[in-house]
Amino acid sequence: MTDIRDVLEARRLIAGHLPETPMWSYPVLDAIVGARVHVKHENVQPTGAFKVRGGINLLARMPDRGRGVVAYSTGNHAQSVAYAARLYGVACSIVMPENPNPAKVAAVEALGATVTVAGATMVEAADHARAMSDDQGRRLISPADEPDIIAGVATLYLEMLAARPGLDAVFVPVGSGTGAAAACLVADALAPRCRVIAVQSASAPAAHDSWASKELVTRPCETVVDGLATGSAFETPQAVMRDGLSDFLLVGDDDIRRAQRMLLTQAHTLAEGAGAAALAGLLAVREEFAGREVAVVCTGANAGPAELERLLAAA
Ligand SMILES: *Cc1c(COP(=O)(O)O)cnc(C)c1O
Repeated sequence: MTDIRDVLEARRLIAGHLPETPMWSYPVLDAIVGARVHVKHENVQPTGAFKVRGGINLLARMPDRGRGVVAYSTGNHAQSVAYAARLYGVACSIVMPENPNPAKVAAVEALGATVTVAGATMVEAADHARAMSDDQGRRLISPADEPDIIAGVATLYLEMLAARPGLDAVFVPVGSGTGAAAACLVADALAPRCRVIAVQSASAPAAHDSWASKELVTRPCETVVDGLATGSAFETPQAVMRDGLSDFLLVGDDDIRRAQRMLLTQAHTLAEGAGAAALAGLLAVREEFAGREVAVVCTGANAGPAELERLLAAA
């Protein structure tokens, strides 16, 4: 199981590649929420999302990385793995399901990875990636059942809690749960009185329901929020979240959109939907945190063209 020493080692391994990200407060946002709110800005990562921390740590620690890697993803996991593979000169294939977003294909190809389009759904794309891994000897990188990814992602919370050890709570958006598991690990070691509160879309509640029922369940995935769109849960992060989370909130996609507009207008920050979900969770329970000091992670900025248009029209 991953522990704080793995996180410290990950910090050492990624330090030369990724500077610490900023964390700021915004007075109008504080006033709206009624608390001191620190926004951790992962939207400024070179890939536009926090996941690159995990990709770099995994590749840095992979003893036989010369054999190449393969991952299945349409979004930020793909960019994370492709970015890290380029850094270490490792061959990288990404499998995406049919009809991928051309902008996402272009982003991954620009990082030097090969994109293969296969399968009607993500489950079929995953099967294809597994077959490629078997045929070509490349290492298949799971989106979440990877301790090195969780340790890499946890460097975010090391930065956060080192800067603000007195935080009462941190709100973390959840898809597969690597981010929330990472927050639990670091809070447990450095700031045990800081509550870790996970937030997921009510329209894709697999991780929430798995946490609540203490067993891995699958659920319909109907959210429009890309980064949170997972229909199944992953054992590795769930095992950490089971004891580590103090609460797990479900929010509506409309609440997420409202938080996304709030970040744009009050924090001059472009967040993709998933990047605003933590703030949506905080807004849902803000009375409970009146006058407290809390952090929300703006996990990513990769809004697609249609999402951007909608966001700007509404703002
Ligand atoms: C992947 C992702 C999430 C969810 O993170 P998990 O580790 O999968 O729970 C949240 N926000 C963004 C921007 C993401 O890319």
